[in-house]
Amino acid sequence: MIHISDIALLRKQIKQWKLQGKTIALVPTMGNLHLGHITLVKGAKERADKVVTSIFINPLQFDKKKDLLAYPHTLSDDKKKLGLASCDLVFTPSVSDIYPDGEATTRVEVPVLGVILEGKSRIGHFSGVSTIVNKLFNMVMPDISIFGQKDFQQLMLVQRMVADLNMPIEVIGLPTIRESDGLAMSSRNGYLTEEERSIAPLFNQQLQSIVASIQNGNKNFKALQLSVAKKLNDSGFKADYIEVRRVKDFQTASTEDINLVLLGSVWLGKARLLDNIVFNTFSKSKI
Ligand code: AMP
Repeated sequence: MIHISDIALLRKQIKQWKLQGKTIALVPTMGNLHLGHITLVKGAKERADKVVTSIFINPLQFDKKKDLLAYPHTLSDDKKKLGLASCDLVFTPSVSDIYPDGEATTRVEVPVLGVILEGKSRIGHFSGVSTIVNKLFNMVMPDISIFGQKDFQQLMLVQRMVADLNMPIEVIGLPTIRESDGLAMSSRNGYLTEEERSIAPLFNQQLQSIVASIQNGNKNFKALQLSVAKKLNDSGFKADYIEVRRVKDFQTASTEDINLVLLGSVWLGKARLLDNIVFNTFSKSKI
């Protein structure tokens, strides 16, 4: 596996592959890689000739400096995992190369999607995400890019940006990889104490209970959301939002809608946990 930090060297390698007629997949990450990330890399390898994984802890998408400073740096472990997953190139640009003027002067904003739910709670987060993804796309010029459904709003936002800006890139979302007890894998799970970790699976279980109720005909989404938020709060979590939305445009779901996504975000100690379930109202099998 090639390791490149310099943007000009990356462009040179990409140009060489393109001249050879190779297709390229990009998997953007912030490092501290776990099986969720590695599954995206393997999925990328099945779909393109060359896989580039970027590792860049993007200061622009952190709304709290403390969170940015605490984010784990585990590059040598990450490189081993990527090598074993047959990644072709790991790209680790520096903050000063990505933002030479200290901050991005031009930002990419995705209206509506960027300021609801996670974007409402973390002001500026999605502006940071769309800006860095756009910059990475311009550097790597991939044919496809793979994202996790774990960050469903982020996936929708990137797909929207690519469509709106006519970028010739296919953005593919792959399913969430979970621990055996149902907790979605996340670099932030490492912030949980042993006790918090033992109650963490309750989050996904409670989301599942909402989906089951809706599929059994309960159309009172608001009551279901409130009751689960209360249950979670009573069990030691701090619920931020638990909301049923339409998949097609992320607007609040009405009782007529069929294709839905349940999105949740909760605090558990120092960790902010995200999860979601995409489902339809008439089928008991989740999508
Ligand atoms: P991050 O390093 O947290 O920015 O995540 C990089 C990519 O990995 C994003 O597309 C995430 O959605 C994806 N990802 C993170 N956790 C998981 C997971 N448990 N399953 C699948 N994809 C994931």
